Amino acid sequence: MSVTPTAPQGAVNPWQMALQQLDSVAERLKLEPPIHEKLRHPKRTLIVSIPTMMDDGSEKVFTGYRVQHSLDRGPAKGGIRYHPDVDLDEVKALAMWMTWKCAVVDIPYGGAKGGVTCDPKQMSRSELERMTRRFTSELIPIIGPEKDIPAPDVNTNAQVMAWIMDTYSVNVGYSVPGVVTGKPVSIGGSRGREEATGRGVMITAREMARHWGMGLDGARVVLQGFGNVGRHAALFLQNECGCRIIAVSDSKGGIYNPRGLNVEELIRLTRAGGMVPTYPDGDRITNKELLELECDLLIPAALENQITSANAPNIRAKVIVEGANGPTTPEADLILRDKGILVVPDILANAGGVTVSYFEWVQGRDAYFWTLQEVNQRLERIMKNACDEVWATYEREQVDMRTAAYMVGVARVAEAIRTRGIYP
Ligand code: NAD
Repeated sequence: MSVTPTAPQGAVNPWQMALQQLDSVAERLKLEPPIHEKLRHPKRTLIVSIPTMMDDGSEKVFTGYRVQHSLDRGPAKGGIRYHPDVDLDEVKALAMWMTWKCAVVDIPYGGAKGGVTCDPKQMSRSELERMTRRFTSELIPIIGPEKDIPAPDVNTNAQVMAWIMDTYSVNVGYSVPGVVTGKPVSIGGSRGREEATGRGVMITAREMARHWGMGLDGARVVLQGFGNVGRHAALFLQNECGCRIIAVSDSKGGIYNPRGLNVEELIRLTRAGGMVPTYPDGDRITNKELLELECDLLIPAALENQITSANAPNIRAKVIVEGANGPTTPEADLILRDKGILVVPDILANAGGVTVSYFEWVQGRDAYFWTLQEVNQRLERIMKNACDEVWATYEREQVDMRTAAYMVGVARVAEAIRTRGIYP
């Protein structure tokens, strides 16, 4: 199995990485072999071709994937990604990580993920809409509020979710808002969903720093990726924890200012379509340089395979909080552990998004919507409980924090399988 052609040095195949992480925790938990074996296989995998009419009248056929890793604790849940590097192994890994994530925060879902191999930056809005609607119609047999509920991920957003909801609804003949989460509030979305992953990253950073005995007031923060997760995490860490954001980046590179960047201005610039390195008040740096800056908190919030055996020896952060899914390879994990760097793993750190997606689904079922304050209070409670539980496991078991979070999540899924039994 290979990694994508654009993957950084030291990158590993994400599915191999996900399996390796599961295997090592299965051994530690002494999982029964049939349960372990079941969890090593995704429950359901769908690969579809998506013929799409382009604006110039030509037709392009894209490939789309939906993988449901586990349905053991409830309907499958997970985002949809549009990116040139999307392939089956990436989607399988992301689906498995969703299973553990939902279990760590103890929400009643299994894990899934979807993706289309495409370059959305080269496509017009109407091309994206046609591709999304055709992809949705191919997914109709396996998605639904009781079966599998997609959400936004890299390069997808509330508008894409609205197209999915509309296509599904038109096909079944009535409105089904619960088929996706991360929708606009005007069609049944939840207040606070858009910023929920970034808010969860902030809560996790704050809670784990507290357990770790590190204050966040004035802490220097470096963020890789300035999309949905990165920009909200930056804003909340700055405004609610007193952190100084000294460097951020996007796919074109980064900007560094040891005195602190103006996050609001950077958000305005990037929302208007500007790229981070064009921001004038700081020094331009590469993504490689950014990851190796000296800082208190390093937050990878872009893609997987960013901290590898090639650059882990050069990382100078005190704590890494994984906003992205799978940014650290297992080899890098070992190096970071030896260097005494605390890594707060993705399945905990970025679980705020799926938690508020769950709230959106619950509100939709009741057709009764909560205030932003209610959403944020409930998110706080769930994230804080999960942080306390993972920290307690980390201390009790004397393992790294990823292993601790996996022990909590995998044990919960295994218990559900044990209780239900393996049919027939
Ligand atoms: P996004 O599309 O909104 O933003 C991605 C950002 O990463 C952009 O700024 C992009 O320019 C940057 N980027 C892309 N390639 C890069 C590279 N090679 N180097 C540096 N920066 C690069 O995506 P998002 O929703 O913010 O997701 C980011 C990560 O967080 C992904 O791993 C995703 O799976 C994970 N995540 C997202 C959510 C969510 O609710 N959106 C929830 C949980 C986890």
